[in-house]
Amino acid sequence: MLNSTLDKVIRTTKSHINELSFMGINTLEDLLLNFPWRYSDDGEFVTVDCLNTFEPLSCKGTLKNVIGTRTRTGKFMLTCKLVDETGEIDLMFFNQEYLKRILRNGVEVVVTGKVKEQGSRKKMLSPKWEVFNPNKPLVHSGGLIPVYNQSGKINSKWLREKIHPLLEFTNLLKDPLDSEIREKYKLMDFNEAVKNLHYPSSQEDLINARFRLGFEELLYINLKNLVSKQYQKLECSFTGKKMDIDLYNIDDFLNILPFKLTNAQLRTIAEVQDDLSKDRSMSRLLEGDVGAGKTLVAAAGIFIAVKSGFQALIMAPTEILANQHYKGFVKLMTQFGMNIQVLTGSLTAKQKEQVKIGLKNGLIDIVVGTHAIIQDSVDFRNLGLAVIDEQHRFGVNQKAFLKKFGKPHVLAMTATPIPRTLALTIYGDQDLSILDEKPAGRKEIITRLVPESKRQESYYWIESQVKAGRQAFVICPLVEDSDLIESKSVVSEYDRLREVVFPNLKVGLVHGKMKQNAKDQVMLDFRDKKYDILVATTVIEVGIDIPNSSIIVIEDADRFGLAQLHQLRGRVGRSEHQSYCFLFVKSRSENTRTRMKAMCDHSDGFKLSEIDLELRGPGEVFGTRQSGIPDLKMASLSDTKLVKLTQEAAQEIFDMDPSLEKFPILIDRMHRSIKEFDL
Ligand code: ADP
Ligand code: MG
Repeated sequence: MLNSTLDKVIRTTKSHINELSFMGINTLEDLLLNFPWRYSDDGEFVTVDCLNTFEPLSCKGTLKNVIGTRTRTGKFMLTCKLVDETGEIDLMFFNQEYLKRILRNGVEVVVTGKVKEQGSRKKMLSPKWEVFNPNKPLVHSGGLIPVYNQSGKINSKWLREKIHPLLEFTNLLKDPLDSEIREKYKLMDFNEAVKNLHYPSSQEDLINARFRLGFEELLYINLKNLVSKQYQKLECSFTGKKMDIDLYNIDDFLNILPFKLTNAQLRTIAEVQDDLSKDRSMSRLLEGDVGAGKTLVAAAGIFIAVKSGFQALIMAPTEILANQHYKGFVKLMTQFGMNIQVLTGSLTAKQKEQVKIGLKNGLIDIVVGTHAIIQDSVDFRNLGLAVIDEQHRFGVNQKAFLKKFGKPHVLAMTATPIPRTLALTIYGDQDLSILDEKPAGRKEIITRLVPESKRQESYYWIESQVKAGRQAFVICPLVEDSDLIESKSVVSEYDRLREVVFPNLKVGLVHGKMKQNAKDQVMLDFRDKKYDILVATTVIEVGIDIPNSSIIVIEDADRFGLAQLHQLRGRVGRSEHQSYCFLFVKSRSENTRTRMKAMCDHSDGFKLSEIDLELRGPGEVFGTRQSGIPDLKMASLSDTKLVKLTQEAAQEIFDMDPSLEKFPILIDRMHRSIKEFDL
């Protein structure tokens, strides 16, 4: 029955059926699982004398004095009175001639709308209406009325009329979750939930129904992660990239470092080492706040790989960062006789060719490069480990192309501080390491929201810091002046700072529209102190290490998300100097105030990320597309409690039967759900 095609279930035209099919609704089950996206609860029932001008209400009465007329311009107009025991109001409908046949004298109807008062008369213009039939429930008025997605001929009213009489068939829907799980997590039965999602019997039932289906949504994502992780384990076993612990001594590496590693770094290195000594590929995400020292963890992995006879690759999202890594790794790795090269767009064709040859014949042990370069026609002799720095900056799937290098171990790193539970759900098919500890001795960055009245003062302060040997960033959101958005353009701000504010200082400029070479040159010049102040867009956001800069000014800070602000702020505070972050905003909204206060109060990226999640939701925070975060219908990824709960439940179900074969209905629903999110 549930699989019956719709032409067997509802009476309608072929073109309606086609339109439904276009909406992905082909069977009775599809129709029942086509949930409203919102509810209009304008339906409280009152008597005519209680209708008022400020809220839509529903009211039942009998029609009288029905007259169809035409206006002077020839438009059809139907007027009538609606009468009940408390009084009467005038109704007017326009342009709907067919109403003549339905709304006739003596017909009982329910109307919903706001009243207009004209003198002593009350009037409703084009109210929502529904003929009252004592044998049929009302589907358009009273209580919480479902509003469905519309498409072509299929509007919400039409769907309500068709779906409501079919709701009894929800009893045929089998519950994908067994009673044990339902009881344990206090979940409404599936068919109850479906019924209540269409026509909630109360606000509370609606909440419970949404909880039940939201639970399922997240459960399926978590289950899918568990399954694909298991699958990966099978698929990637015996890759022959096992790194034998007898071949190297990790202490050799740790001993050359000029500082003591944090416990978090040591723990993570041990996790990586453990993965590398297995016969299946590592797929690990290393999450750590800016400045937490992720690079060294990667370096330890690379040390292990090369000592074990493999090659290693580091992918960076920008040339600047690739070059920075290159320099850092040269310093570290050449001490062990490792050969390291860089592969970026600014090499000459000949240089590129040489690097490629070296990678192919194995003379190069380590290569640092940008994504695009590595992607095109590079062959390795024996790539054992690929490190992807700032993974959130790349498109979704780098792993696919790494496959052609013989499934190396992959260590992805990100500074997007996603709360652990959420990370497990979103990046669930990777193992997770978190660097939740900063190297000792770092001073907190002092962050202030600066009012316009103190702007000049803050400039004096910056000048004095520069005189003391420090450098400063000034960040603006846009490249060119735009009439549409009143933001500081980086170019005009550069002119202003250089000519008016700091005529005695050296001011530099870098933004995304500049050529790569020019950008790199400015960054290098800034690092070499040829500039005191660097005016920049967010191109400097990612990973750049210029320890001498101790001040960052962020203009129009309200235009950035907290995670991004935090990332920008992370450009300073990288040395023993006390560092400062000055935020300027134009908006005075509550939301801006809350977010800026969070920036001033918290230096922990994880905390800020949680706050941002609550304020803006995951899609906004992480960017739905690039992070591959599904756009859920019922559940919210920021509901950490629910995320946790469903992780637990997923594990339970998975432990009962990792093949899920015991749960055919669940598998079915899971595929349906995951297909919707395009996971
Ligand atoms: P991120 O996690 O943002 O990539 P980096 O790896 O670039 O951070 O490290 C930031 C800075 O901290 C670098 O200059 C690095 O040399 C330094 N650093 C890393 N680990 C430690 C440590 N344990 N103690 C002191 N400094 C460290
Ligand atoms: Mg980094």
